[in-house]
Amino acid sequence: MAAGSAIQIPSRLPLLLTHEGVLLPGSTMRTSVDSPRNMQLVRSRLLKGTSLRSTIIGVIPNTSDPTSDCDDLPSLHRIGTAALAVQVVGSNWPKPHYTLLVTGLCRFQILQLLKEKPYPVAEVEQLDRLEQFTNQHKSEEELGELSEQFYKYAVQLVEMLDMSVPAVAKLRRLLDNLPREALPDILTSIIRTSNQEKLQILDAVRLEERFKMTIPLLVRQIEGLKLLQKTRKPKQDDDKRVVAIRPNRRINHIPSTTEDEEEEEDHDDVVMLEKKIRTSSMSEQALKVCLKEIKRLKKMPQSMPEYALTRNYLELMVELPWNKSTKDRLEIRAARILLDNDHYAMEKLKKRVLEYLAVRQLKNNLKGPILCFVGPPGVGKTSVGRSIAKTLGREFHRIALGGVCDQSDIRGHRRTYVGSMPGRIINGLKTVGVNNPVFLLDEVDKLGKSLQGDPAAALLEVLDPEQNHSFTDHYLNVAFDLSQVLFIATANTTATIPPALLDRMEIIQVPGYTQEEKIEIAHRHLIPKQLEQHGLTPQQIQIPQVTTLDIITRYTREAGVRSLDRKLGAICRAVAVKVAEGQHKETKPDRAEVGDGEDCREHVTEDAKPESISETADLALPPEMPILIDFHALKDILGPPMYEMEVSERLSQPGVAIGLAWTPLGGEIMFVEASRMEGEGQLTLTGQLGDVMKESAHLAISWLRSNAKRYQLTNASGSFDLLDNTDIHLHFPAGAVTKDGPSAGVTIVTCLASLFSGRLVCSDVAMTGEITLRGLVLPVGGIKDKVLAAHRAGLKRVIIPQRNEKDLEEIAVNVRQDVRFVLASCLDEVLNAAFDGGFAVKARVERLNSKL
Ligand code: ADP
Repeated sequence: MAAGSAIQIPSRLPLLLTHEGVLLPGSTMRTSVDSPRNMQLVRSRLLKGTSLRSTIIGVIPNTSDPTSDCDDLPSLHRIGTAALAVQVVGSNWPKPHYTLLVTGLCRFQILQLLKEKPYPVAEVEQLDRLEQFTNQHKSEEELGELSEQFYKYAVQLVEMLDMSVPAVAKLRRLLDNLPREALPDILTSIIRTSNQEKLQILDAVRLEERFKMTIPLLVRQIEGLKLLQKTRKPKQDDDKRVVAIRPNRRINHIPSTTEDEEEEEDHDDVVMLEKKIRTSSMSEQALKVCLKEIKRLKKMPQSMPEYALTRNYLELMVELPWNKSTKDRLEIRAARILLDNDHYAMEKLKKRVLEYLAVRQLKNNLKGPILCFVGPPGVGKTSVGRSIAKTLGREFHRIALGGVCDQSDIRGHRRTYVGSMPGRIINGLKTVGVNNPVFLLDEVDKLGKSLQGDPAAALLEVLDPEQNHSFTDHYLNVAFDLSQVLFIATANTTATIPPALLDRMEIIQVPGYTQEEKIEIAHRHLIPKQLEQHGLTPQQIQIPQVTTLDIITRYTREAGVRSLDRKLGAICRAVAVKVAEGQHKETKPDRAEVGDGEDCREHVTEDAKPESISETADLALPPEMPILIDFHALKDILGPPMYEMEVSERLSQPGVAIGLAWTPLGGEIMFVEASRMEGEGQLTLTGQLGDVMKESAHLAISWLRSNAKRYQLTNASGSFDLLDNTDIHLHFPAGAVTKDGPSAGVTIVTCLASLFSGRLVCSDVAMTGEITLRGLVLPVGGIKDKVLAAHRAGLKRVIIPQRNEKDLEEIAVNVRQDVRFVLASCLDEVLNAAFDGGFAVKARVERLNSKL
């Protein structure tokens, strides 16, 4: 502070009277305040003041504030230090007081006391004018000499201290950077001095006098330190001797201090580390960097924070698999069997994966595209990735990218940061310990973006076969070869994958499963896995296929099988309890004997009536094996069904139709509801709709209005102008989800046609398709997922645009058997199919009449 060249303090200063400690310009002091006048000063000046000026106070040393407000002021010390109040902390314990943190600015002298109450204020004269001294001392030779002498002593003193302590190093720098005239005050407050001595320095207004008075203090401190070092020296010499005769010591068992041992161990560690570095197979560039670092490490005191950093870095470098890899054992026939064994269905995906592997087998260093599996959650994307690693005999590592929004997550932090670490790629390599693992980049569609850089851009470098042989993590700061790593990505949708990243990948769609496929997956894979995890055997639990179907239709509604897997887990847990209870009972022979007769009876009836298993399961008797999970048991374990077939109920009024929507979580059925009321021809839309959806609604109304006569559609008062005195409200339930896209067009038309004709839409039909103003039906995307959703919901007919016919080939045969498809190219056909008995009958009759 005192270093500032032109400090101007106010001519009137409020005075803080202190008894303990002396504040010198350029130093900081904490002082406790509890006497009446001082408290008043803090309250009315420091706590209420708003300007910087109001935080400047005069600190008068060696003067205590009277304990009572009424007492007269004692005589004040003539010279004080103007100070800046940096911090005020109030406390009520043990009595009200404040703790002030003040920084000294410069000396002042009291000219006249202006008032005493509520706190003293005085007219003052500033004594230190630093800029003047600076100018003066150039001219005054003697002062120059004095200051030079002082500086030398100061440097000598600081250099005797431990420079590895950051505060000491900082002080050393300050000696050079601060103006010389500020040094006496600052050093006096740092070195060991009594209050009396400090007071003398404060009173030494002339700079020359101040230098003269502080030099002896410095010399005294230096001598003191020398003495201290001397008394310690013999011990240090001993230490050296011990080090020198270390080889003998081992034989003679000369006892040593634990500190010694630790140091020795650390030294050994560093030597070991160096050996490891030299014997590791790291790249030449990395070796060079490591050797340089180890050289630095040897010179560094262990107490330095950088020591640990450097050591961690070197240890990571040694651990990284620079040249270590597993040998690929690739045999396409075995791979096919393994993939088939691990996964049911997903033929398209398995076919592509096999092609990929086959090409790899033929051409070892494949710079092919990165495979990216895109599909709803729980359809086995991750698990296929794991199987690929298994077929290749490689290590597998999953890197979850969901929510990653900092490029350092991929590329690491530079080592200058506190807590810096390598990115996920390098960390993954360290974990697997080989340089050719299979890395599954999970959820690439959920990468975020933030101020900390774009992680997608960092991933580009990782995935680009042209660049990734020299991937440079910021933490490592040397290139690492990633070209042997096999990257596979997964995503729920391609819409949110950054285009540049998408360009590097080959997308393989993994659609949801049909009910039949789910049943097969459950029985072939999920149930055996769950049984094993819960320590159960097929002799203890039996889940028939109808029960699985029940779980699929009434307890889950998903494209994948994850929720199904969880439900099966819940069943296994419940059964495990019963089985364990049963075993417990069996180990108690007396009770079993007592209840023997009853037991038998129970089991006989149970056999005959499998529905009652859940009831008997509640009895404290060992249930007969295997426990059969039927619908009642299901209800008992999983609670009442979560999804009922609500379709027919909801379609029991005119003005409701079922549409089909595509979401990243798979297809879904969507109810569209409409109602009309008296009004002025307004259309209200609710349910979080996007712009395209709103346009579809307007299109649908326009088309219906222009075709109202043809279809005999009337409003409530019988007019063909549908909006005459009528308001329409269209609602798309599940309002929290934003819906957009053109594919609801046909559904809105059907729903409104039902509303205005008063006829019910068939309860087993769902539809999708974009419309035009002239009544044509245009193709839409996601047909397969949508059809599966309709199938899941038990619908029997699906109306799709004619031009989507080609998409039906992808749909499984059994679904095609269950669901009838109506291909429509115009809205007439849609309406005809959506209503029982068709929709255009009246129009045709009328047209005929008019012809006659
Ligand atoms: P995703 O990565 O697509 O979200 P997961 O790979 O985590 O899904 O799959 C969830 C669970 O479902 C896993 O236990 C997996 O084994 C199982 N699973 C999914 N599809 C199949 C399938 N076709 N055959 C066998 N198991 C499957």
